Amino acid sequence: MQVELYAVNAEATQTIAEVLAQLLEPGAILLLKGNLGSGKTTFVQGLGRGLNIKAGITSPTFTLIDEYHCGRLPLYHIDLYRLESSQVGSLHLQEYWRGADFPLGVVAIEWAERLPTSLQDYLQIEPIPLSIDTDERKIKFSARGEAHTKLLEKLADAATSRGWQPRSQPG
Ligand code: ADP
Ligand code: MG
Repeated sequence: MQVELYAVNAEATQTIAEVLAQLLEPGAILLLKGNLGSGKTTFVQGLGRGLNIKAGITSPTFTLIDEYHCGRLPLYHIDLYRLESSQVGSLHLQEYWRGADFPLGVVAIEWAERLPTSLQDYLQIEPIPLSIDTDERKIKFSARGEAHTKLLEKLADAATSRGWQPRSQPG
């Protein structure tokens, strides 16, 4: 399943993320793809807002993994930018969605292109700048697996009920 939403500016991207955040259940895996500056961290900041995380979310480019435990669900924010695919395995990221050593929450992975193996159940999110003259992004969502397909259906419903589709903006 695929859904495309349009965001005129960073605020609109965060509003979309905030709406998604309210639909998330423990164990959600969000794979963020796209170039540097496309809006992945900006999107995760909106997720944080929607999960009611008061701490400011920053880019984990240097820390690799930031954990936020103060919201509706734990948020595990991961950035693979500085890693090679071959190094990612040793991070044991699956611990974050196994639900044994860490409480199940929301896993948001930037530069998910670097994951060495493909997952069975996830929501992929790709913010795509539409032109260098504007801040507009097309945000492409695609789901794999039952749980995340249901999640994406709910997001599509929420978008429709807000009048965001087709090709319209929140806010
Ligand atoms: P990434 O994590 O993908 O490298 P960031 O989210 O850190 O990208 O940076 C995106 C930059 O683009 C931010 O400075 C943000 O304010 C700006 N921006 C402008 N318009 C948008 C938009 N529609 N969506 C997301 N970010 C936007
Ligand atoms: Mg980033």
